[in-house]
Amino acid sequence: MERGKSMVQLRCDLLTLIMIELKRVSHRPTKMASACIWCGSPSHKIYRSGFCRQCYEIQSEQRRLAKRVSRYLKAGTPWKCLDLRLRIDCHVAGAMGEMAKAEGELFAHHRRPEISGQTIEDLLTYISHSLLPRKDPLVNCYYNCATTITRLFSPEQRKVLIDLLSEAVNQHKRHLRRTRAKAGNGKLVQDSKHPPKWLRNFLSKSK
Ligand SMILES: [Zn+2]
Repeated sequence: MERGKSMVQLRCDLLTLIMIELKRVSHRPTKMASACIWCGSPSHKIYRSGFCRQCYEIQSEQRRLAKRVSRYLKAGTPWKCLDLRLRIDCHVAGAMGEMAKAEGELFAHHRRPEISGQTIEDLLTYISHSLLPRKDPLVNCYYNCATTITRLFSPEQRKVLIDLLSEAVNQHKRHLRRTRAKAGNGKLVQDSKHPPKWLRNFLSKSK
């Protein structure tokens, strides 16, 4: 029971803090002037060709890798015989591109007329899972708070709230892209008989 109480208390404290912050920033206009075509972040300036700097660098990395692989393949070296490091780099670069595009969905709420409490609960849950160890009793402290959020926050406040939260989540995800891509792709590459899909698309376009 004690633990249940502390979760409720923590949740209320946080929501109160958010309410105070919302009052402070709610006069700000919603930012959405131009956004990166991959990650969709409105907080990162467009650097080149519609990409923010980080996404542009991922795309440049993909181009460089594709050129190297293309030279080997044209010389008759099959994909499976290429240097393992090069193959891993190709998978990692592809995964980072996919992650960046998936993050663009974080900002899809800008296109929705109303933000649900559930969308905000999902972001708060992502944040608590990122901050706390998996076994921490408070890791799911935002579970089931969607109804409370809908009740406490007006539709306008929910828009400001999601602006603030989605930026924090996006920033966290973009810092971890390479680490997550490496963690997810190291083993997969050992067995891959063909170049990853992004690379096949790239190579077929450049023919
Ligand atoms: Zn971007």
